Amino acid sequence: MNLDSSPIAAIATAPGRGGIGVVRVSGKNLAALLQALGFQLKPRHATYLPFTQADGSIIDHGLAIHFKAPHSYTGEDVLELQGHGGPVVLQMLLARCLEAGREIGLRLAQPGEFTHRAFLNDKLDLAQAEAVADLIEASTEAAVKSASQSLSGVFSKVIHTLVEQVVQLRMLVEATLDFPEEEIDFLEKSNARGQLAHIQQTVHTVLLQAQQGALLREGLNVVLAGKPNVGKSSLLNALAGAEVAIVTPIAGTTRDKVTETIQIEGIPLNIIDTAGIRDTDDANDEVERIGIARTWVEVGRADVILHLLDADRGPTREDEIMVERFPDGVPVIRIWNKIDLSGHKPSIDTMLDATHIYLSAQHMSGIDLLRSELLRIAGWQQTGESVYLARERHLIALRAARDHLQTAAQFAAQDDHSLDLLAEELRLTQEQLGSITGEFTPDDLLGVIFSRFCIGK
Ligand code: GDP
Repeated sequence: MNLDSSPIAAIATAPGRGGIGVVRVSGKNLAALLQALGFQLKPRHATYLPFTQADGSIIDHGLAIHFKAPHSYTGEDVLELQGHGGPVVLQMLLARCLEAGREIGLRLAQPGEFTHRAFLNDKLDLAQAEAVADLIEASTEAAVKSASQSLSGVFSKVIHTLVEQVVQLRMLVEATLDFPEEEIDFLEKSNARGQLAHIQQTVHTVLLQAQQGALLREGLNVVLAGKPNVGKSSLLNALAGAEVAIVTPIAGTTRDKVTETIQIEGIPLNIIDTAGIRDTDDANDEVERIGIARTWVEVGRADVILHLLDADRGPTREDEIMVERFPDGVPVIRIWNKIDLSGHKPSIDTMLDATHIYLSAQHMSGIDLLRSELLRIAGWQQTGESVYLARERHLIALRAARDHLQTAAQFAAQDDHSLDLLAEELRLTQEQLGSITGEFTPDDLLGVIFSRFCIGK
């Protein structure tokens, strides 16, 4: 991203037609722009006025609000124009702003640039800035709740407190390094080991909460596998509660993968319905072969595999071959479908090889058993505690911090001269934790994070 500090402008509302639409401008000093537009605005007051072209013709009537630096989203001067939400009206308003702001170097904003400025001006830290994007993208109520927790700074505060504790400990260790003759008492006197253990415990708790948050954001990848006609599409429909996949008695008709995201207690489940997995040699044509190949790639990435079998007919040779190809370590739920034909009762049975669930997709019996088992596998715990809408990046940093702390604890437990190693592990811990809120985040990573925002944010 090529970012300079010139003033920026963009349409801040979503593309398409709506009741209102907003054009936003941000820059260090927008006085010249306001003048060129003929606006006299009292800061933070909404003023109803005509938006006019340079020749005085009217584009629209609407509200203009001037937020004076530093009391704005970006920390710079911000001008917001709220007009009618038509794409052409807003394009004309934006073009008019760019024209009026030519002298001050006003240009189009890049994706995420408003929020990037807010970060650079200390309006938000990095975790909060990410929460802005996550709030906008949230697909469930639970995700909204936890994104706004992060946005309001709850997550950042926990991380800051941890960083402070690590800094305290580092200061103790490094001071001791500077005065080696007092080394003997250092760890005892200041209860450094106790402090370290406390930090480890907190990181452990935060990691658990962040993992829950990541689940809300990313969802659980569920693969539906099973031979043709066993009821995969029907089960998908039963779980989703809507007709999404084609249910048909003809084998091999679901050729392409269908991903449907459903939610169970707010957790998104990305369900991948597979092309009837049969041996590629049996496939009728190229299209089906490609579908089958793709399916195996998905299976490899799954968090859980739902292997559907026919409860009435029992497993076939094809099913056994399929099981052999399931990747190691991915939990499998063996679902015996069509119990209305076999006479089984809906039930769940945890066996050594897999969990077995008896149900009928068509008659919606036993579906609840499957839903709760999926939640259990997802590791979802309704703790009532804060859940931070964390990203994979945060989890990686927290896990690295946890590992450095563990190594640090090993050095701290030794009575020999490993204080410098202990100090180094603490420094690395601080670096990892600091990367979450953006204290130690390289510019190129910042570029990647902000460029994923939408334009106007
Ligand atoms: P897929 O090829 O694995 O996706 O299977 P489908 O979902 O298309 O189902 C194949 C056939 O089995 C359809 O005729 C469904 O109506 C039928 N079927 C699915 N689930 C059940 C069930 O629980 N009981 C009975 N009796 N039939 C079912």
